[in-house]
Amino acid sequence: MVKAVRIYKTGGVELLKYENITLDKPKADEILIKQTACGLNFIDIYHRIGLYPIDLPSVLGTEAAGIVEAIGDNITDFKVGDHVAYASGPIGAYCDYRIIESRYLVKLPGNISDEQAAAMMLQGMTAEYLIKRCYKVKSGDVVLLHAAAGGVGSITRQWLKQIGATVIATVGSEEKAEIAKSNGCDHIILYNHEDIAAKVKEFTDGSGVSVVYDSIGKATFEASLNSLKSRGMMVSFGNASGAVDAFSPAILAQKGSLFLTRPSLKDYIATADNLKSSANALFDAVSNGIKVNIGQRYALEDIAAAHTALEARQTIGSTIVIP
Ligand code: NDP
Repeated sequence: MVKAVRIYKTGGVELLKYENITLDKPKADEILIKQTACGLNFIDIYHRIGLYPIDLPSVLGTEAAGIVEAIGDNITDFKVGDHVAYASGPIGAYCDYRIIESRYLVKLPGNISDEQAAAMMLQGMTAEYLIKRCYKVKSGDVVLLHAAAGGVGSITRQWLKQIGATVIATVGSEEKAEIAKSNGCDHIILYNHEDIAAKVKEFTDGSGVSVVYDSIGKATFEASLNSLKSRGMMVSFGNASGAVDAFSPAILAQKGSLFLTRPSLKDYIATADNLKSSANALFDAVSNGIKVNIGQRYALEDIAAAHTALEARQTIGSTIVIP
């Protein structure tokens, strides 16, 4: 019997059901994983509340790491006992055993533990595509990064500093400001009570930033556009405060011929080559000093408490869930 967390309808954390499910044997292109750690990501909340619709009932969760327990007949690139992780593919990571197609899996190098992998694969490959492919950040670029003490934020801010960017970071509390500062962010904005665009103008002598990485959505969208320099790039990649309202593209012209993209990780790791190169870039970044901060650990059966903390802005860095 497999332990899993499933929802039957969308809504609050009380709908997360910890229960037994059954698994078949892996098919020809599939692998059975004994999962030792699952990642907790904001997208899990969007799935639970229905912001991103999914078929129901469904086991939730998008990311996990563990050990290969059995392989299908066509599998040649993984073997029983390999440590693997995934951060894409069908939803259903909140469980202790999982069958998944091998094309979603990455083999872990010896210096990355299962817990580290569960904490960083989704958030770290997101950081990779945001700063290397969505907008290729160069040394000397001035960047605005929201929620810099969160999961994606913690990895992204360290990586930006490795590249040599100037990082203006927003955070929601003094405690998070200290963390962002001690990790090398150049300027901090406490965006719950400071004016984001005015502070950015102050830090950049009135010129604005080259790129904004905005995962907050509704609450920060306009301030982010107002923080960009002429022909700057707005990367709107999340909705922690709610989805951005519809708007006219003419606004981008009025604010300085801005660029806007609304990317999703799945499109940046859709091919085997993309997945491999994104994961390898992340592994290299960790080898070069990026720290994966596991700020919280929960047991799988306490998943409701984990969701509550993430939703209430109480988490720092990444969160893992142990089946
Ligand atoms: P985080 O650990 O960053 O948690 C979210 C943070 O957002 C909070 O800690 C909080 O930080 C900030 N926040 C601001 N306003 C709110 C609000 N109203 N409610 C809740 N949080 C708020 O989460 P993740 O690292 O898992 O994800 C970060 C973002 O990146 C999410 O929006 C997620 O959807 C997005 N994402 C997008 C991907 C993509 O490919 N498009 C892939 C991965 C993640 P503070 O207290 O400092 O304000």
